[in-house]
Amino acid sequence: MRLRDPPDSRSFPRLGGERVKSDRHPKPDVEAALKRAEKAGLKVKRDQNGHRWGFVICCPCTAQTKVWSTPTSPGTEGKKIDEFTRRHSGCA
Ligand SMILES: [Zn+2]
Repeated sequence: MRLRDPPDSRSFPRLGGERVKSDRHPKPDVEAALKRAEKAGLKVKRDQNGHRWGFVICCPCTAQTKVWSTPTSPGTEGKKIDEFTRRHSGCA
């Protein structure tokens, strides 16, 4: 049993820099959509910043869509990513 906890700022490693590729989205619906996006040739960029989880990027036309880490509706967030994937799967 711990009596005292260290200050939060010291107990967490610094974010940023290279992250392992096993970073996954906490919501299965969104994670599945991200996998489909990667399969279609889009780039999934993990860039946690507040409620933002990262981006899905279409390199050829530089379009990108934000991915939220805690979407109100994971199903809708997944569909948004699928829609983006469909629209840009022809770009590569
Ligand atoms: Zn595109």
